[in-house]
Amino acid sequence: MTELADKEGLTPEEKNALLARINDFIQWLNEKSIIKETNNIQHTFDLPWADADWIMKVDIRKNKVSFNTFISDKCTFEYYEIVVLHEFFHLAVQKVPNKDDATKIKDDFGAELMKLIDIEADFYVALYLKERCGYTLVKYWERNREGAIVFSDRWIRAKKFERFLGTLLSITKMFLVYPTDGSSFSAYDLYLPTVSPIYTEDSLHVLIIKKEHIYFEEIKASYQDFIDLKKCYQDVKSFSISGYVKTLIEISCKALNLEIPEKIIEEINEIKSN
Ligand SMILES: [Zn+2]
Repeated sequence: MTELADKEGLTPEEKNALLARINDFIQWLNEKSIIKETNNIQHTFDLPWADADWIMKVDIRKNKVSFNTFISDKCTFEYYEIVVLHEFFHLAVQKVPNKDDATKIKDDFGAELMKLIDIEADFYVALYLKERCGYTLVKYWERNREGAIVFSDRWIRAKKFERFLGTLLSITKMFLVYPTDGSSFSAYDLYLPTVSPIYTEDSLHVLIIKKEHIYFEEIKASYQDFIDLKKCYQDVKSFSISGYVKTLIEISCKALNLEIPEKIIEEINEIKSN
């Protein structure tokens, strides 16, 4: 046994910074009318370190939210904040805070809907990072590269890989197509992909959820793109940081028929690889 009882995942300063981050996220969700101020629940937060496989636990009766800080050992504080905001979105907006809720959704509506719920949470966290923390598309993937290391699977689980692709396409489009001025943000596209056709044709099938309606589309992706994406997902350390970010942005822009802006290429070239 290790001395887990005394272990603290975060320093007191980091705990304060994390709580301030969550509060700012709540304020932003209110400003965007994603949650209604009148329905705001006052949560109390607890940041324990537990050597167990959970990130957020919610006691609905007491409105008490616990975030396990164990993964903060394995990543930067900035990435840990992103993980916490994703989980908090499940709670505050989608009302699916616990693992049980996810299981129920899978039973009731299937794994596809659960995938979409994760893509939506990733999307809104990215939008928040863009609007409130000055994130660019390049910075987003530079930071989220850590996720591929922290949460790496030994084998590719199709649903999780598809969620990664859905997040990639949704977020690339958000950064490159939507106006940078958050105030005029009124519509978004979420991409729900399936990889099954890639073995037989050079495309991926996606269901696109627009604010107004849902539609079906095929996006351009060659088998080689697919191999490269799988490598980004599973074998992230075989890339330099700039190589990783460049691969993701090139493939997603090609799939979405978007030109990569010069500014982004310059930003990628400035990434210091280590
Ligand atoms: Zn999630």
